[in-house]
Amino acid sequence: MPSSRCSKCGKVPDDGLRNCSGCHGATGAYCSLECQKAHWKIHKPMCRPIGPNEVWGIKILDNRHQPWFSQFQHVLLNTSHPIFTKGELCPVTAKCGYPLLIYSDSIHGGLPAQEDNQPAVYLRIEPHDGFAPMHWQMQEPGTCYVVRQDRKPLTKEAIEIIYNFHSYLLDIVNLELATNGHGPWRKPLSPEWLKSFADDYRQEEISREGRKGFDFFP
Ligand SMILES: [Zn+2]
Ligand SMILES: [Zn+2]
Repeated sequence: MPSSRCSKCGKVPDDGLRNCSGCHGATGAYCSLECQKAHWKIHKPMCRPIGPNEVWGIKILDNRHQPWFSQFQHVLLNTSHPIFTKGELCPVTAKCGYPLLIYSDSIHGGLPAQEDNQPAVYLRIEPHDGFAPMHWQMQEPGTCYVVRQDRKPLTKEAIEIIYNFHSYLLDIVNLELATNGHGPWRKPLSPEWLKSFADDYRQEEISREGRKGFDFFP
């Protein structure tokens, strides 16, 4: 499902977007040639035409793969993949207006339990206490998959921000608030909170690491 915003800067240009010719706009559409060029390194892994029954998601490899950012891989999933029927909603992202579905090969697919998968367990935490539900804690999730519930492409940059947002939330959990029935954070989860976290995170990555093209949270 193509976006109406420039894949790099997020603007909605008056004269329309130019579709990338490699993917026919499936994952890349731009307000200008400058944006297209600056975004190429990020866009390249997802630059191919996709069929009506295909959705770009993220495969999360288990904890044997380190550092954490090497656990995320782009993956093209057919809509017959069980994530679309058995996948669970990630509750924090749902509260923040960015609903994601998550599927574990071992918990949902019945494959032999392998290793823990920390990013996947983080994504599955509940907003009322900051813990993943029991069935995620009782079994090693192994390899997991994540897609956007709206079936728009999920990029590695977006999942990186979402994962770091969860990591930040877990750092500031206040168990005293949770036991009082308020949930573990001093303010409620909201799209504004995720957006301001994403803006700060990108700014820091761009200024510290010089990450070209990483300036829009799709
Ligand atoms: Zn642009
Ligand atoms: Zn493309």
